[in-house]
Amino acid sequence: MKRLILKFGGTSVGTIEKIKKVANIIKKRHQEGNEIIVVVSAMSGETDALTEKSSLISKNFDSKELDVLLASGEQVSSSLLSASIIDLGLQARSWMGWQVPIVTDNNYSSSQIIKIKTKEILNFISSKGIAVIAGFQGISNENRITTLGRGGSDLSAVALAKFFDTDSCEIYTDVEGVFTTDPSIHNKVKKIEKISYEEMLEMSSLGAKVMQPQSVQAAMMDDIPIHVRSTFTEKTGTKITSESEIDYKKSVTGIAYSKNNAKVSIVGVIDKPGVAADVFEPIGKNNINVDMVIQNTSLDGKTANITFTIRQEDLRKTLNIIEKNKEKLNYNKITHDDKLAKVSIIGAGMIASPGVTYKMFRSLANEKINILAISTSEIKISVLINENLTQKAVKTLHKTFDLN
Ligand code: ADP
Ligand code: ASP
Ligand code: MG
Repeated sequence: MKRLILKFGGTSVGTIEKIKKVANIIKKRHQEGNEIIVVVSAMSGETDALTEKSSLISKNFDSKELDVLLASGEQVSSSLLSASIIDLGLQARSWMGWQVPIVTDNNYSSSQIIKIKTKEILNFISSKGIAVIAGFQGISNENRITTLGRGGSDLSAVALAKFFDTDSCEIYTDVEGVFTTDPSIHNKVKKIEKISYEEMLEMSSLGAKVMQPQSVQAAMMDDIPIHVRSTFTEKTGTKITSESEIDYKKSVTGIAYSKNNAKVSIVGVIDKPGVAADVFEPIGKNNINVDMVIQNTSLDGKTANITFTIRQEDLRKTLNIIEKNKEKLNYNKITHDDKLAKVSIIGAGMIASPGVTYKMFRSLANEKINILAISTSEIKISVLINENLTQKAVKTLHKTFDLN
């Protein structure tokens, strides 16, 4: 007998019809003789709709109350799914995060899971019950509801796989697995059979929404293999696993993109030690994440321009912070641009294949796509470009690196 985590994302439970379909998948897996713990997301669009409501009440909606509100979407779907399973003649029961409990830290809206109590659920599944657990949520030591960041049901699934020591962790979604790039913007994508935790972490951090980055990191830390697969076909999906099980035939495994990037340039700061720290310290202290950074020095070596990227939604706040520090920073002017995208190629195979960088730049140049900033790591290269060229860039890179 195997113990399985089956996680169903929002698109898999987006309608009553789909919930009934999911209940049938669960029934089948149960009849194969498995112990089943289900993790469920809110019906698709629900978390966005709740977020929208909060913003109509206040732009500064209390963060702890926001978690109470957002977690409600998963309460609805887990009850609908449990009842649907019961209707098929099986024994099922829903658990909210606080009932399990899934204990998290107090970092509301992006909490980390600390521990999960297993006894009650183990008893239930060992007597043939199907446990349906609301994803995305937990409870803090202040006895308040927390959430795990957008897409956080993936993290719930991985954490449950760890604490329940399950034989597999299956992420059911609306696509057949992880593809060479987002199938919604390119029709020549290929399914990746196996991908390493490291590459998947880069893919999702750089925009591939199919897995939440924090969940991939958690899986990597505890070596919990993940199977990403479709709710709507029975085909095998993608295995996310440790690097030792993968041989890299290609230099690039996948391409990811993220829109909503903004770029700020501070022109004419005095070029002396400590300036970059003075620029970024107040930004960091305001919890704004800086992504790419470029500094170039004037010919006479006296002044420098510092350019960096942030998320579009942080642009106003960032500009205000810099303007407030104008006297200290002593710059000439600030410029900004807020309709930018970051396109990235990812692949552990690039470590062993020289020339990937120039091929990427040449292929973009041939399409007349201007590169505004570049950042690299061992297994990825990212470029910043105009947002409206995103799809064109992804398509040309997909072809250049032999992924079509
Ligand atoms: P769920 O509701 O199951 O959590 P998500 O919407 O969070 O599903 O993630 C699935 C979506 O991720 C797909 O519909 C697809 O458009 C998007 N996606 C982005 N990049 C990729 C990729 N490389 N492979 C597969 N899907 C991707
Ligand atoms: N419902 C949450 C969200 O939309 C969590 C999830 O779907 O994984 O972000
Ligand atoms: Mg998701």
